[in-house]
Amino acid sequence: MKKFKAESQRLLELMINSIYTNKEIFLRELISNASDAIDKLHFVSLTDEGASRDFKIEIAIDEKERTLTVIDNGIGMNESDLEDNLGTIASSGTFKFKSEHKTDEELIGQFGVGFYSAFMVADKVKVVSKKYGESEAFVWESCGSDGYTITKGERDQSGTTITLYLKPNSEDNKTDEYLSEWTIGELVRKYSDYIRYPINMLCTSERKKEDSDEWEEYKELRTLNSRLPIWKRKKSEVTEDDYLAFYRSRYYDPVDPLYHFAAAIEGALTYNALIYVPGKTPMGYYNADFKRGLSLYCNGVLIMESCEDLLPQHFGFLRGIVDSADLSLNISREMLQKDRQLKSLANGINKRIVSEFSKLLSSDRETYEKIFSEYGASIKFGVYDNFGAKKDELKDIILFRSSLGSLTTLKEYVSRMGEEQKDIFYAAGKSVELIERMPKVESFKQKGVEVLYLTDQIDEFVMKVLGEYDGHKLTPAVSAGEKTDNESLKALLEFMGKELEGKVKDVRVNENLGAYPACISAEGEISLEMERILNAMPNGKGVKATRVMEINPSHPLIERANQMLETDGEKLTKLTKILYGEALLLAGLEIADSVDFVVSLNEII
Ligand code: ADP
Ligand code: MG
Repeated sequence: MKKFKAESQRLLELMINSIYTNKEIFLRELISNASDAIDKLHFVSLTDEGASRDFKIEIAIDEKERTLTVIDNGIGMNESDLEDNLGTIASSGTFKFKSEHKTDEELIGQFGVGFYSAFMVADKVKVVSKKYGESEAFVWESCGSDGYTITKGERDQSGTTITLYLKPNSEDNKTDEYLSEWTIGELVRKYSDYIRYPINMLCTSERKKEDSDEWEEYKELRTLNSRLPIWKRKKSEVTEDDYLAFYRSRYYDPVDPLYHFAAAIEGALTYNALIYVPGKTPMGYYNADFKRGLSLYCNGVLIMESCEDLLPQHFGFLRGIVDSADLSLNISREMLQKDRQLKSLANGINKRIVSEFSKLLSSDRETYEKIFSEYGASIKFGVYDNFGAKKDELKDIILFRSSLGSLTTLKEYVSRMGEEQKDIFYAAGKSVELIERMPKVESFKQKGVEVLYLTDQIDEFVMKVLGEYDGHKLTPAVSAGEKTDNESLKALLEFMGKELEGKVKDVRVNENLGAYPACISAEGEISLEMERILNAMPNGKGVKATRVMEINPSHPLIERANQMLETDGEKLTKLTKILYGEALLLAGLEIADSVDFVVSLNEII
């Protein structure tokens, strides 16, 4: 007997002893694996005629033996496949998920729990499999976490037969149900209705005996799933619930989608698309190995599970399928990637997504705002990516928080601008609260000028890439003003400049600081917020904004400071430190020498 690999052992124990209530999903997992195995052989059959057959999945119930069997005529497994695929779980998505989410047992049932889920209902599992193109069949057997054996066996055609020897029926594990034709039929419809291959089962029916009033039982083969892909059905015949059911059964997502749309395009390239916006950012979306893309079908036949080339990266959060009859079937996956048809398909879909989002923006603002709050960062990344190659396409579907309190598009901002206002103003910071308290932002608001609040890390980079919108420059509201002459404060500015040497490039006058005596602003391309963000990135360390301190000439503290210049230079040094420290705090920055700041503050008080 061989032992399971360590991780498999752990997961297996968890699965077997799981208090998890939704044990029925084991059937969905086995059927999905069977369907995957047929997909694989189906793909081979596109180029190898010998591989084509009447593809199907069969389910058999044996009440006497208390077994449930799932049979497929797919690609099958040889000895080393059995060893690799069923002897270890680390290669399947399941273990990875489990290790990322250490304790959430309820969740496992909503994602692919895989082959091992069979052990939730069975105390012994027997797999007989023969790989396509090979002559020997093998039997894999296991009674759970002890380990497994692999021996030689018999099987006619390639494919896999998985027999579950059900556990004894108990109150919290009603395994008897899996011997009921009715329950199995329900489970297939619930979880596996859109599996493209027929899922057949011999079912018991009753009929009247000939020439008699008596009834007799007989067996008949029935296909349990409806199969016809939802995207092939007439739109008018598909309800919202159908779309929802399809999403749930296909993506095992416990959260319902925020939005979906179906498109039937006829033209140079004819295709159907069904696209969903998931309710929550898909698991692992920001990991480099996240599998994005749409499933690509050709006339209902799966060509590629996640075709990356069908979705630009910034729409990578979308899920869905595209089915086109125009793609030539006989090409390999590699070739398909370079296919011109595929490119035009991707273009068409991309345009459709953008237009769908623009439409939503006016027809169902609430939904679009939900989508944007979940995926806005990704869409904005699309504006910024590739030096703004897609900016024109995307600039009208991005939203920003505004000083008016709502989310706004740039177009809406422009429509509200006063006649004399030329630029679009924005301010960046860690949070809306911090931005609102920036002295310059306050003064803009007082003058009734709307300011866009940029709180996402990417926002300011987006503004830089856009540069302008509809002829209006995108301008930071908080950048340092030009140096202006101010005779009465000249000496004070010089004094402070010396005191703060090395800390700020310059000290200047600014009349627009409202109630505050001083503030820190940046001059040039890099703002304070960008400095913070870049320094948090691995290759952005050491980037520095050019800092300028600006003082408010009409603030009483500045007036006092000006008087101190003649009377008490020592005190003025302390006041300068304090004003500088306050200005840092207002900008959301840290005071490097906080002790010195506190000491100076106390002395002045
Ligand atoms: P996953 O499906 O996420 O890869 P599973 O635990 O469900 O994980 O299955 C593990 C692997 O075992 C599959 O990837 C596949 O290679 C193999 N497998 C399982 N069932 C079958 C089957 N019926 N036919 C062929 N291979 C199978
Ligand atoms: Mg699986």
